[in-house]
Amino acid sequence: MEQQKRLAILGSTGSIGRQTLETVDCYPQLFEVYMITANSRVDMLIEQARKYMPEVVVVADEKHYNTLREALADLPIKVYAGADAIADAVTLHEIDIVVTAMVGYAGLLPTMRAIEARKTIALANKETLVVAGDLITRMAVENRVPIIPIDSEHSAIFQCLVGEGDNPIEKIILTASGGPFRNHTQEQLLKVTRADALRHPNWSMGNKITIDSATLMNKGFEMIEAKWLFGVEPSQIEIVVHPQSIVHSMVEFADGAVKAQLGTPDMKLPIRYALSYPNRLVSTDRKLSLTDYASLTFERPDMVRFPLLQYAFDAIGQGGNMPCIMNAANEIAVAAFLAERIGFCQIAQTVAHTMQHVDFISAPTYQDYVATNDEARNIAARYIDKI
Ligand code: NAD
Ligand code: MG
Repeated sequence: MEQQKRLAILGSTGSIGRQTLETVDCYPQLFEVYMITANSRVDMLIEQARKYMPEVVVVADEKHYNTLREALADLPIKVYAGADAIADAVTLHEIDIVVTAMVGYAGLLPTMRAIEARKTIALANKETLVVAGDLITRMAVENRVPIIPIDSEHSAIFQCLVGEGDNPIEKIILTASGGPFRNHTQEQLLKVTRADALRHPNWSMGNKITIDSATLMNKGFEMIEAKWLFGVEPSQIEIVVHPQSIVHSMVEFADGAVKAQLGTPDMKLPIRYALSYPNRLVSTDRKLSLTDYASLTFERPDMVRFPLLQYAFDAIGQGGNMPCIMNAANEIAVAAFLAERIGFCQIAQTVAHTMQHVDFISAPTYQDYVATNDEARNIAARYIDKI
């Protein structure tokens, strides 16, 4: 029997985390859950621990430690709490693959530690590459660690590159659903509610990425993610709105050939591929039926109505800590929008303000990213308080 791969799933209670566990359910002979972590959904974490019997369970929010420890006291499971405990535990030598399925800046430190410990990274947490793509990709090269994308667009690009050897990428065509407000006017955008923004047309995801999809910040993040994962310049990345979400992305080569990967909008496929690469696993999930779609359409994104996409190009163009500033401001602004403290269009205003007010650092170290993230959050929060 092939040796089982032992997984650490960071953010096991989230959308990607749960779908990763469902993938393990389908291939129990191939994968073993060694470690799970969550921020605060301790009841679900306890349930998962009882079902999968991992060696290690960590809750990031320390106030849930006692509940977790008591609930698992009858089992031989090590229980820890805190962000540092997550970052320490990913280095355990038994772990083969670290699935980074937590949301936000919190993914940076454990991803760095996992790379230093030479774990294969199955990367869902795109914010890590937005914040510190330069540092992370450098560390991955130095430690010879593969970073395998879970994000559907990047999985598609990764799949298009299999077998291409040294053939350079001419261009990446990154597809975007366009989100729920694709056809909204500027006036309509001013009035959209939290509930409207959480209603994504094609994908069911965690709240933060659903809002990022509605603002197109998510596509800006994915452009930066693609730059770092595939070593291309932002000018080589074309963003195309494709509302059906069937063509997950494309790669153009020097001879003019364009390769695409297609499938139903279902994260299970990229998750499965990241865990089984370079093999493909047999799946009974619903397959794509092209005749179910009257047409597949492609259009240009509107960066005037969706300025955060433009800000992402601006931020990566400036480089340094600017993408980190943008990400931190966006996290604060999205949380405020979800708490119904600011309107939809004020998310972009908060990000623009913060990008103009945090000190720029052209070649940041890890400590600079930590300081930048703190400063940008404070500036964004103060701006929102005055709205
Ligand atoms: P989610 O909100 O459903 O789940 C987030 C998980 O992260 C939860 O388990 C939560 O407990 C954990 N978490 C939150 N804050 C944390 C913290 N400070 N420390 C430790 N853990 C923390 O999010 P999701 O939709 O599963 O997305 C996860 C990541 O994957 C994001 O970076 C997102 O951009 C990316 N992604 C998601 C999808 C999708 O379909 N959901 C697709 C592509 C990429
Ligand atoms: Mg995506």
